[in-house]
Amino acid sequence: MTLCEKPVPCSVCPLAESCTLDQERHAFWLADHRLAQIGRRILVLSNKGGVGKSTVTAHLALSLARRGLRVGLLDADLSGPSQPFLFGVEGTRVRASAGGLVPPEPAPGLKLVSSACFLENPDDALMWRDSYKFEFLLGLVGGVAWGPLDYLLVDMPPGTGGELIGLRELLGRVDGAIVITTPQRMALLDVRRAVTACRDSGLPVLGIVENMSGMLCPHCGGKLHPFRRGGGEETAMAMGVPFLGRVPLDRRLLEELDEGRLLQYDDPGALSSRALEGIADRLVMAQIAD
Ligand code: ADP
Repeated sequence: MTLCEKPVPCSVCPLAESCTLDQERHAFWLADHRLAQIGRRILVLSNKGGVGKSTVTAHLALSLARRGLRVGLLDADLSGPSQPFLFGVEGTRVRASAGGLVPPEPAPGLKLVSSACFLENPDDALMWRDSYKFEFLLGLVGGVAWGPLDYLLVDMPPGTGGELIGLRELLGRVDGAIVITTPQRMALLDVRRAVTACRDSGLPVLGIVENMSGMLCPHCGGKLHPFRRGGGEETAMAMGVPFLGRVPLDRRLLEELDEGRLLQYDDPGALSSRALEGIADRLVMAQIAD
């Protein structure tokens, strides 16, 4: 057996000096130790890329933190990590401390961990096999000093492959998944598959969000539906899962995100902000009702 090499987080272990766990068992022990202090664990997924999964996840995390809840945001999209960029903390590295890795806190009460926090160069690409991705995610869940959290939101990579299976396994109890889609039929086919994947793995679907659902014409103020409308809600009804709401296409939101200024996007009157707040309300209400 390889003896535990006692990396920094071993200081949180009551057996630190006498521990004889091998590396793998140590990593699982540490993850369980952290997870014991984590309340609701929610995966945010989409089967397609580019539908706004990271955008919605970031907004929900921020909205929950602004309500005084303690939130962890785990960017599990290892090959396309965008959360640090959205929050304007790209380039901020995790810091080692006696209690574990200390992640960036882009807003009070919000801890953010992403593979991007470990890259030397933002252009570096991670090309890892599933087994190594699993090991890395296990290291993030256990190695980070998350502290007590009310919510852990996980921004999943697109698809229903290895990371979904791996995170289900390593998080143990997962309270549910939020599935993000755009309204057009081509995206909806993949949503149905994502819902089926959740069902097959015993993961409750908390609901579907229809993003990029309509917009106001910048010239006449009339309503436009470049990607059609209503498909997310219809799919939710057809598949018997809750519909969490529609988020409109919002040019200003896109511009703020493109400049990594999510934290500055604070326009409570904007339709997209109101829609995202409504979704966060529904999540919190669902927890109270549990
Ligand atoms: P995913 O995580 O599904 O790949 P992203 O969250 O990265 O998608 O969003 C893809 C692009 O669409 C980004 O440029 C983002 O700023 C933009 N976007 C997402 N949702 C909206 C919206 N409601 N209004 C305007 N732009 C949006």
